Amino acid sequence: MALPGRVCGDGAAHWIPDLGSDAGSLRSRAAARIGLRVAVGVPLSTGQHTLGALCVYGDRVEDPEDILLGLLSGLAAQIGQYVERRRAEELAIELARTKDEFLAMVTHELRNPLDAITGSAQLLVADLDTLTADERRQYLQIIGRNAERLSVMADDLLDLARLESGNLSIDPAGTDLCAVIGQAVDAARTSTGKDLTITVDLPEHIEVHADASRLRQVADNLLSNAIKYTPAGGTVTVAARVDNGRHEIIWTVADTGIGIPAAERPRLFRRFYRASTALEQRIPGTGLGLVIARTIVERHGGTIVLAEHDGPGTTFAIELPIKPSQGA
Ligand code: ADP
Repeated sequence: MALPGRVCGDGAAHWIPDLGSDAGSLRSRAAARIGLRVAVGVPLSTGQHTLGALCVYGDRVEDPEDILLGLLSGLAAQIGQYVERRRAEELAIELARTKDEFLAMVTHELRNPLDAITGSAQLLVADLDTLTADERRQYLQIIGRNAERLSVMADDLLDLARLESGNLSIDPAGTDLCAVIGQAVDAARTSTGKDLTITVDLPEHIEVHADASRLRQVADNLLSNAIKYTPAGGTVTVAARVDNGRHEIIWTVADTGIGIPAAERPRLFRRFYRASTALEQRIPGTGLGLVIARTIVERHGGTIVLAEHDGPGTTFAIELPIKPSQGA
């Protein structure tokens, strides 16, 4: 094992007095080849955890071993404290940003439906006797639609909290992924009032060991996003296939919609994040669906990424192991 591995392995200092005779390590042999003779490594630690190793290679040693070790350990302790401080600062910044994005989302996503509900209810009460039956129905539909939006948001927030704390169980069983996707597509086709072409490219059956209801949640989220962020006249394509060579299932959801600017892609799977394209067009959303989808896919041992895409629009690609590894 190389010197950094030995130091990190037991969190203690290690000393190699003769690199030439340390034949087990590629790194020691390479160092010996260029004339180095000794090496010493000390742990970089925060007091509780070993973060890495500080290793120094030299062609001769003039100081007695323990003085050099003492000096290096002091230096390593300083670096460890610095790294720890930086990490705490980054965490604080991340927390503040999440808080800001959460507040922005709640202000928008709570306010708008609540305004619509109270506004419609007030109009109904004030003009109940003069409104036609059709007008009353329209106001009630507005109330229903917006209450539904709030309830989806509450469910998403609860799901996210449970998934992130590990309290939401995933119950895998033999599942046909094509059936799950097919049902999600049927539901989307009947509920979307938009003029879109939804095409499906699926084999007869794809057997996967997974939680069907959680995969349905992923399918619903990707499909509803593709529909929501694609203007009328566009196309949404859902495909899945088995890549036997890699023992994986490749599942893609592509659309020809408003797309996501390349510079924003790294932030996409962050809680409450909404792309500028969606905000500019005032398309409602919470920035929660993709985080939930990613957590579910990862709990199945898979990955979800934004795939390269020719032309306008967005493609999400999911890779799922045919048989997830134990403990995934
Ligand atoms: P929501 O759609 O409720 O905002 P998501 O977590 O599902 O939340 O998506 C996060 C953001 O990613 C969206 O707000 C949108 O900006 C962007 N996004 C997701 N899917 C698409 C898509 N198919 N096309 C364009 N933008 C998308």
